[in-house]
Amino acid sequence: MNVLVLNCGSSSLKFQLVDSVTETRLARGVVERIGGQALCTYEPRHGEARKYAEPIRDHAGAIQRMMRWLVRAGVGADDLTGGGAGVIDSPGEVHAVGHRVVHGGESFRAHARIDAGVIREIEDCMDLAPLHNPANLSGIRAARALLGEGVPMVAVFDTAFHSTMPEASYLYALPYQLYRRHRIRRYGFHGTSHAWLAQRYAERAGKPGDAVDLITLHLGNGCSACAIRQGRSVATSMGFTPLEGLVMGTRCGDVDPSLVEHIALKEGLSLREMSTLLNKQSGLFGVSGLTNDMRELLDEEREHGDRRATLAIDLFVRRVRHYIGAYLAELGGAEAIVFSGGIGENAPEVRRRVCDGLGWLGIDLDPAKNAAVAPGTEGEVGMDGARIRLAVIPTDEERMIARETVAVLAQRPAQG
Ligand code: ADP
Repeated sequence: MNVLVLNCGSSSLKFQLVDSVTETRLARGVVERIGGQALCTYEPRHGEARKYAEPIRDHAGAIQRMMRWLVRAGVGADDLTGGGAGVIDSPGEVHAVGHRVVHGGESFRAHARIDAGVIREIEDCMDLAPLHNPANLSGIRAARALLGEGVPMVAVFDTAFHSTMPEASYLYALPYQLYRRHRIRRYGFHGTSHAWLAQRYAERAGKPGDAVDLITLHLGNGCSACAIRQGRSVATSMGFTPLEGLVMGTRCGDVDPSLVEHIALKEGLSLREMSTLLNKQSGLFGVSGLTNDMRELLDEEREHGDRRATLAIDLFVRRVRHYIGAYLAELGGAEAIVFSGGIGENAPEVRRRVCDGLGWLGIDLDPAKNAAVAPGTEGEVGMDGARIRLAVIPTDEERMIARETVAVLAQRPAQG
């Protein structure tokens, strides 16, 4: 079964065609800057990545373009049609579509097969994710129009994995009626990634998915930590929005909320400008004054001893350690800590600093193993026999969305 995984951002489309039986990727691609001269990359499984620049008006146009790459063209195939790098013979070989949807609110505790009712409910969640859900919805509509309603489609929600958090974990200590009236609560994000990490860890450990207690760390541009008890999320660091929690590339993570009013008054900023400051000008970028990119910060520190680069990395690492401590308390100990995301997977130096001096907790990094994990591979980086295992597992949200899509479609419809 070929599952097309679609991830629509406000001006982007990421796609991947996955053979769900063998879990192999047949092709993938990205269309950026939709609405103008778009930058497109298409990469078939066997072959070089190809880049194109061409005007693409909207998500429908991007999905149309994607299908012209994916479907093998007949006689006269030119470079525009992917130069003959198609991977299926006809659109009919797309058997199902899995859409990433950022916010499922409280309506979706599980991923859902898309029909008119599900689309209406996703629309109802719009005010919770005004930047993301409209783009996700426009991708769903365009895909249904182009591929036809006969192709089953599933909405896979970033928030669904965290729907198992207990009330005391998801509520803020605000007036309770705000939760009743406006659904103000912690939702958590990166759920597909944390779910993948828990599943992969359990598979590697040869255990059932509901038998592992873990702390998973998704450390990319966006960063979040998750406490997982018996395979289910019980706490996570992102909150009502993806702004809360860890220090990220440009997001501040946890701050005293009184700062919002104070900074706005001192700097003469509107609420919208404050939101930009906290989301786009803070984090590693804001502290270092250099970049949001961890690799560049590590280079700056090593090559030039840049003080603010070190400070940004220190803030980042302290916050991760803070959540590890909190979640060990939450879980009453964990079997393993899993590192993932661009930083978690590729920066042994950050893993070293996160684990530094935590031997008393049973967290003991093996420096040789830590240095030896090759990019894109899984590995164990803890000392043999340490109480808490330390694993590096590359995240693979697309493969997880394909898995979830197949799982939802395999469910029998509820009996009426
Ligand atoms: P996104 O959240 O956008 O998917 P990624 O998961 O790709 O982002 O993570 C991007 C982050 O990973 C950047 O801060 C980048 O510098 C960092 N990163 C990637 N490779 C390395 C590396 N080799 N060393 C240190 N940091 C790295």
